[in-house]
Amino acid sequence: MVTRSDAGGFELETPLEQLKGFGPKRGAVLAGAGVRTVRDLLFHLPRRYRRRLAPIPIAEVEAGTDAAIVADVTSRRSSRRGRRSLTRIGVQDRSGRIDVLFFNQPHMARSLARGERCFFQGRVGERNGSLHLVASFHEKDREDQDTSQGGAAAGIPVYELPEGIPPRLFRRTISQLLGNLAGRLPDWRDRYGYDDGDLLELGETVQQMHFPGEAAHFERARRRLAYEEFVRIRLPLERLRARIAKSAKAHACAVSDEQRQLLVAALPFTLTAAQQRVVTVVLDELGRSTPMHRLLHGDVGSGKTAVALLALAAVVRSGWQAALLAPTEVLARQHEATASQLLEPLGIEVLRLSRGSVARERAAIRERLDSGEPLLLVGTHALLNASLRIPRLALAVVDEQHRFGVAQRARLRAKGVSVDLLVMTATPIPRSLAMTLYGDLDLSVLDEMPPGRTPVETRLVERSGLAAVLEEVRSEARDGGRVYVVCPVVKGSEDSDRAAAIDSARSLHRQFQGDPVVALAHGRRTPEQNRQALEEFRAGRAPVLVATVVIEVGVDVPEATMMVVLDADRFGLAALHQLRGRVGRGQRSSRCILVADPARSQTRERLLVLVEESSGFRIAERDLELRGAGQLFGKRQHGALDLSFGDPVRDVDLLERARDDARRLLDERLDQTIEGWLPTLPGLGRREENDPGPG
Ligand code: ADP
Ligand code: MG
Repeated sequence: MVTRSDAGGFELETPLEQLKGFGPKRGAVLAGAGVRTVRDLLFHLPRRYRRRLAPIPIAEVEAGTDAAIVADVTSRRSSRRGRRSLTRIGVQDRSGRIDVLFFNQPHMARSLARGERCFFQGRVGERNGSLHLVASFHEKDREDQDTSQGGAAAGIPVYELPEGIPPRLFRRTISQLLGNLAGRLPDWRDRYGYDDGDLLELGETVQQMHFPGEAAHFERARRRLAYEEFVRIRLPLERLRARIAKSAKAHACAVSDEQRQLLVAALPFTLTAAQQRVVTVVLDELGRSTPMHRLLHGDVGSGKTAVALLALAAVVRSGWQAALLAPTEVLARQHEATASQLLEPLGIEVLRLSRGSVARERAAIRERLDSGEPLLLVGTHALLNASLRIPRLALAVVDEQHRFGVAQRARLRAKGVSVDLLVMTATPIPRSLAMTLYGDLDLSVLDEMPPGRTPVETRLVERSGLAAVLEEVRSEARDGGRVYVVCPVVKGSEDSDRAAAIDSARSLHRQFQGDPVVALAHGRRTPEQNRQALEEFRAGRAPVLVATVVIEVGVDVPEATMMVVLDADRFGLAALHQLRGRVGRGQRSSRCILVADPARSQTRERLLVLVEESSGFRIAERDLELRGAGQLFGKRQHGALDLSFGDPVRDVDLLERARDDARRLLDERLDQTIEGWLPTLPGLGRREENDPGPG
């Protein structure tokens, strides 16, 4: 790592307090914010940029507006009231004169000389009939001004600085340091021969971030930092990949051809070509000596469960233990039922561990796990509990991965790095995002639906049409169909603006008078109550099921033919797509009715995407177009990403390059050097929403 470099007499590692104007006190304040050295200072990038205004004549400024002027200093006066100080700089141009005010910056009176010409920008105020400008930015106006030093096209950088650090001192110091460094800031790409010419060099990148020039140049700087961010995200993922590739499994389970045929024959249907392809890859991988680490992506209803069950069965039949993790209790129970039905005839024992399991049941399950006997364990988060030992665990399948955080995936890994891991998701994320989020995993895709599906006819209906929709529900149910009615909340008192499951169930019950029967499922009922409701629904004794999003993922009742979503505008597109995936699983044609009075036309446009598109992938793309990439990965869902500069959709080329370079860095054992090269970027220089950027 480079530590010695000449920065105008300063090394990059020089502590700040040795710089002019800083001293021990300011040095300590900045150190508290993680800025200790010259290097840290240079990488303390602007938080955002304020738009730089075009200067106007003083005679034209108006109170209550933001304005910029170029004027000569005529007078300087500072006054003090208690701890607050006010500096009043009188300025004039050809059209008139005005006072420019600085609060709590008494040094301003000294630093601006009479007769000096300056650019001032700020808010115009009025007092006792005369105007003044409260300066938020000023700069000496020089003829020879270089645009890269904050020229006319640029935005004004806004730094997040701890109290006691004057922005001007900060800016001036950076400007001097950059001037002295003159492009000699060491760049790792250059030094280690990664420089292929088209990424902006690091010194210029830093220069552009602090003193932005033209938009195109600034964009190149942003891309360089985006690349740095991606490399740093990729490195740990690649390191993990490399470790997995090197680790040996205790349990390679070679699955013979006869075994495969036997397993596949246990399914009540023929695999689609896509399923066959993935099953082959997965079973082959079980037989390898290095662990599987695979993401299975398939749209809602593409038949991921069958793939998982075949792999789980193969492992248990080879004498090992396997685990299937589901995000909800409802789904865990359903998986248990499906697995028992299909796999018990093959002599495979299926156990389920849940939050609700009583101590005695738990103890019994633990005992059997400890004994090492081959079995399939199904459950929710309870399986992740560190104290739960699964000594002969050979394969873990995580269903609906998007409901689990990256941290949870890590916890599962921690149960033993040599465990085969298959995570499944229907989250329709574009490939670029998948690469960022699941970059440590190999990817398989189920890109084909089981035969006999009819697309779900989708309509958008206003609330005023609700009565007619409910009539439709009644006749569908009487015709032998099954109808889900989905509400955003459980109880009315939570939010009077949103349809509530309990209230909706009650009023449907009253309206239908027991024909058809209405069942109810939501997160505040016991798992047993929900299981019963779902069972009544499945069996057709209660052909209408009112529910919250407890049924969002995974629930599989092929007889379901209709879904009504109340206050559909309260759900995201991805959630609605998941919900809609609950119908259209059988032979009968199905429909989905979204009931909403979207106040904003934007919301309506969003819901219409569902009416027009049936592919999860297309929906995700259009969602992305409507919302921008930033919102797709809320912390709740993905947790892992903290990007300040990179945009995984726009910068997909950089993402790929970062992946290749990260692999190379790892091969060349340079990864740790590079990780230490830049101060951590995330958190610094985050550009705010609605920020127009410079220029
Ligand atoms: P998802 O990928 O959303 O988890 P599921 O695994 O729940 O989808 O499968 C959806 C439905 O399709 C289930 O009812 C399942 O039994 C059925 N299914 C899966 N594969 C096939 C197939 N090859 N042929 C016919 N039906 C299938
Ligand atoms: Mg599923």
